[in-house]
Amino acid sequence: MSSEASERAFDERGFDRAVIRRQLAGLRDANQQVQSEEPETMSWIERHLEKVNLGTLQDIFSAMARKSGVPEKEIVDIRSIPVFVAPNSSTLHVHEFFMGFFPDSNAIVMDASLIRKDLVDSKDASAATWMFLASLIHEYTHAVGANILSKVGNEEFFQTGFKKRTVGKRHTDTGTPRTANHLFNEGMTELVARMVMEEYLRREPMRVDDREILHVSTIKPMMAGRGSMQLNATYEVALTFVERFARHIADASELPEDVLRDALIRGYFNGDGFSGEGGDIIDEVLGESFRVALAGAETSEDLARIANMYEFPPVTVSLKTAVLNFLARFRQS
Ligand SMILES: [Zn+2]
Repeated sequence: MSSEASERAFDERGFDRAVIRRQLAGLRDANQQVQSEEPETMSWIERHLEKVNLGTLQDIFSAMARKSGVPEKEIVDIRSIPVFVAPNSSTLHVHEFFMGFFPDSNAIVMDASLIRKDLVDSKDASAATWMFLASLIHEYTHAVGANILSKVGNEEFFQTGFKKRTVGKRHTDTGTPRTANHLFNEGMTELVARMVMEEYLRREPMRVDDREILHVSTIKPMMAGRGSMQLNATYEVALTFVERFARHIADASELPEDVLRDALIRGYFNGDGFSGEGGDIIDEVLGESFRVALAGAETSEDLARIANMYEFPPVTVSLKTAVLNFLARFRQS
């Protein structure tokens, strides 16, 4: 096969185009099934999708990526990410809240049964609209973050944001992070998603119905978990954890927290796994003790306790050097 032909067999992320085509065909079938079996849920979803201005959302993602140092050409256009609806989570393994981003097919897939139960049938239309938008932005954040396929020896690895996994092994838990990497990645995703959500509503207040409009001031208490509904508890926990992590590293490296946060955001977007000279910084900070603590977590309460109470190990000289090297690289480019 000529190199030109083999190039065309894979997309720019390194994914096999034939596999993507097959997956998309399956998603189209699922979408069709929901369309014929649950027209009401489908029309609720379509109505809410139409309310979202993707151009504005794209501008916000792009500005944020640029500010953190990602070159313009590397920024994913969310308008190229297709959205499908599947009958329920068991048919298509939608693992997140109401929907999920599938890097293998580069698509967002919504869970019709969960959306019907918790959003369409909800008595609180503004909370339902907010949760739909928040979930959608969370998934788009996964989509614009790093999605890189790489090969080491015979094994293929897939990196999404800060999380790496072996290709073919989709995590099968139901959203409870079992690894530091996963927890960290969800926390970063939610951190970016909330910044984007706030800016989006500042620019484009969203109509709920004839009487109600979602403004950034309306959703602030909801985002803080004081509303009638709370967003995914796991995101909350993961976010707390990332914020504590950033504070810890900022203190240790004597750098302002916002400098560190921008560096983390850049790592999230371009896949620079926040690695310093001496290895992965996240790994070095969290170390073995965190993995042990996490492995013992059985409920979301356990997880919340760990995220809130975990005592980060003291920062070593080598770690401090690694962080400073990473940041120096970040400033240069
Ligand atoms: Zn997520």
